[in-house]
Order: sequence, then structure tokens, then C-alpha cells
Amino acid sequence: MISELKLKKEIVHFCQKLTHSGFVANHDGNISVKCGSKLWATPTAQSKGDVTESMLVALDLNGKKLSGTHSVFSEIDLHVACYRLRPDIEVVVHAHPPMATAFAVSGVPLQKVFIAEAIVTLGEEIPLVPFIPPGCPDTEKTLSSFLSYADVVLLQNHGVLAVGKDLAQAYYRLELVEHLAKIEWNAKSLGLPKPLPQKTILSLLEKRKKAGLAHLDQIVAEEVKRFLSQNR
Ligand SMILES: [Zn+2]
Repeated sequence: MISELKLKKEIVHFCQKLTHSGFVANHDGNISVKCGSKLWATPTAQSKGDVTESMLVALDLNGKKLSGTHSVFSEIDLHVACYRLRPDIEVVVHAHPPMATAFAVSGVPLQKVFIAEAIVTLGEEIPLVPFIPPGCPDTEKTLSSFLSYADVVLLQNHGVLAVGKDLAQAYYRLELVEHLAKIEWNAKSLGLPKPLPQKTILSLLEKRKKAGLAHLDQIVAEEVKRFLSQNR
């Protein structure tokens, strides 16, 4: 198990990456990491580029502060909901990367993933979750139908939320979604991104499954699709 000291250093490293990649401005964005029975989270009202190890806040799994000189960010409910819904994950990263967030605030979903490697990494779909008002008591319920098959989602009128087994995995999922959003935007000026052939998608999803990245709901959906395509 990674030491708390190393973990805190890693959180600070990925906070800086969020800032340097332009995925956040002002006090935007937040990171939390599950470490046994507690969470380590970034402090509220700080630029992610200024966060240091000593500013991180320790919380219980319900998001209640255990220790730290700073307060936790107000969007902690989103993170707590993710951990409740997905016992397999240990990290939540949330940011407002400008291109993916442009889709999210316009209520325009991203197209089905149109690049082979990205299907293996993220699956076929990056869902757009309906707007969740701050402090909404239905946060967990709203997220549940999307996090059952996706590791990264667009939050309408808000930004992007990614989960993962470790910081690098969650961060790079978020980064990849921003990259896909940029490609989709550029491709739209030339026409539309062409979807991959269904047969190719199915074999990429199979690869995803073998890599241990697929979710149960996704596996069932693929089996149904395969059955339908074979019996057409
Ligand atoms: Zn936010």
C-alpha cells in the first residue's frame, strides 16, 4: 500500500497537472483519494496550482472532516456518491476542461467514441449526466445509472468527472475526454467524425474486457449487441 506521504505528493502533482493543462481556473476542480477508511481531499478556495501537501484535508467516507487546517470543497457530495456507487475505485478527479465542458454546458453529448485506442480505455460512450444542482440530495441516484458503465462522464452545465483505481488512471481518463472533445469539434468543421465499423467496436470492447476495464452492465450490453448482429 502506498504511504500517506507519497500519496499526498501524488495528489499535489496531479493538482499541478490540472492547472498546467488548463483544465481549471481560479479555484475550479478537485481531487479526492480513498485510503482505507478515509479520504484525502483537496482544500476549498485554492488554485490547484497552489495546493501543497499540508493543505490536504482528511475526511471520513461520508465526507465529514477528520483533520486538516483547511476546509473541504463543497462538491464533496459528488465524490462521496462515486465511492458509494463504485467500490472498485479509489480516486475521483473533477475539473472544467474547456472543450469537454463546452459540450457539457451546451447539453450536447459527445459522439460515440470514434478512435480505436480510446474505446479500449474508455468504452464506447462518454455519457452526459443531467444537471445536478449543488447539494442536490439525488446526486447519487442521478450518477448511478451512468457510473454503472462509465468511468468518466460529462456533467451538464458543469464539467467532467473521472474515477479510477489510482490518480494517474483517473486523471488520464479526464485528459482523454478533453482530447476527444477537441478532435470532435475540429472534425465537425470538416463534416462529422465517422463512426468505427460495429464489428471493430465489438472487438475493441472485447479487448477492453480482457484488460479488466469493462463493467458488468457494459459486458451484458455487448453480449446483447453481439447476439443481435449475429442473428440479423
Ligand atoms: Zn466543478
